[in-house]
Amino acid sequence: MTVEYLKKAARRSTDDSGDVRETVKAILDEIEKGGDAAARAVAARFDKYEGDIVLTDDAIEAAAAAVPERLKDDIRYAHDNVRRFAEAQKATIGDTQLEIAPGLIAGQKAIPVSAAGCYAPGGRYAHVASALMTVTTAKVAGCGHIAACSPPRPGQGVHPAIVYTAHLCGADRILALGGVQGVAAMAFGLFGLPKADILVGPGNQFVAEAKRMLFGRVGIDMFAGPTDSLIIADETADPEIAAVDLVGQAEHGYNSPVWLVTTYRGLAEKVMARVPQLIAELPELNRRNAEAAWRDYAEVILCSDRHEMARVSDDVAPEHLTVQAADLDWWLDRLSCYGSLFLGEETTVAYGDKASGTNHVLPTSGAARYTGGLSVHKFMKLVTWQRSTRDGARRVAEATARISRLEGMEGHARSADVRLAKYYPGENFN
Ligand code: NAD
Repeated sequence: MTVEYLKKAARRSTDDSGDVRETVKAILDEIEKGGDAAARAVAARFDKYEGDIVLTDDAIEAAAAAVPERLKDDIRYAHDNVRRFAEAQKATIGDTQLEIAPGLIAGQKAIPVSAAGCYAPGGRYAHVASALMTVTTAKVAGCGHIAACSPPRPGQGVHPAIVYTAHLCGADRILALGGVQGVAAMAFGLFGLPKADILVGPGNQFVAEAKRMLFGRVGIDMFAGPTDSLIIADETADPEIAAVDLVGQAEHGYNSPVWLVTTYRGLAEKVMARVPQLIAELPELNRRNAEAAWRDYAEVILCSDRHEMARVSDDVAPEHLTVQAADLDWWLDRLSCYGSLFLGEETTVAYGDKASGTNHVLPTSGAARYTGGLSVHKFMKLVTWQRSTRDGARRVAEATARISRLEGMEGHARSADVRLAKYYPGENFN
């Protein structure tokens, strides 16, 4: 391996756990003991909010009225794309059955979870698209109850566009609760919600840690760290587009890693010169995030050929992976570790983040080695069943009795024995 680091990250986003764990545990304990009142108190403490937690129909209507028509039209367009993609995913899983032996039938059923809890972050940005991605997918999966939580802005409620979107996509209840308190309310069934069977959606380190701690009592989509993105670019790539896309992803947060992996030193140098200029042109909050992310977490890696670029990328296993290079089919075939792949200059991570139809809740921090992102499948349980005629189960019973005895599990063996003795009296099965 002959890769050369033209820029190396000073920090890893996994370095940041600090005392988040203690903070989250204390808040979860406080809310589990104190219920609704404790959750309200935490919302007042962290988000300076003392208004209604559960949004009334009037509040939902008022929020819809506050969203400009053109934006509503865009949200409906994005919702339609995300819904249709989720419906296509749903068609790829379903019920099946197989006659394993004459009379012995085994089957699978896909059953949606009853109650889904969807978190749409709202601390730094108004993440309308997260409400869209989580609620729509839960709805298509067929979840019986969908709760949506998003942080209120200090002294105000949830951003009206998030409320409009959650309602449009099918949320049964919308709560003005962020952070650990939002997650806890859905998991513990506060404010009249059913206890969530699964919690989904991105969020900051407090949200992610709360989900991680509750995992087991409740399902979660994945443990999510800060957003990350990698661009593979060869000599055919446009450096301006590569630079703009890197900056676009670095604005997520101060610790959002971005990587440029290229075979072309000239392109790398142009991008490295251009990124700081583009960052300087962003609005204040975005600029501060992107500056820190680029300074501390970004890497620029020079490779000798496309095989090496692919290997570097698979090792990183980025959440978002963009290929701006020739022969896109080769790349689609070759790459194996990413949350979502964006092939060619004509598409970009921002399309997937907001509106093109694929889900934006994706594995971060290398988790793409072992999981994909949020999909209809995460809300569905694939369960199995079986039934048999007496004769269909005869061979199974014999095998079960002998395997069980070998294992020392006499009780299991007798479940088989009792049936053989009943259905085939007088026969010897030893
Ligand atoms: P957020 O909604 O996740 O968090 C805001 C909440 O954090 C507040 O309600 C507050 O209660 C809580 N909080 C803040 N400081 C706290 C403290 N010291 N102790 C306890 N609780 C505290 O919003 P955010 O902070 O803007 O983070 C959003 C995250 O979501 C970012 O990391 C972003 O990258 C990520 N994101 C990811 C995707 C994706 O698809 N991967 C999409 C959108 C957003």
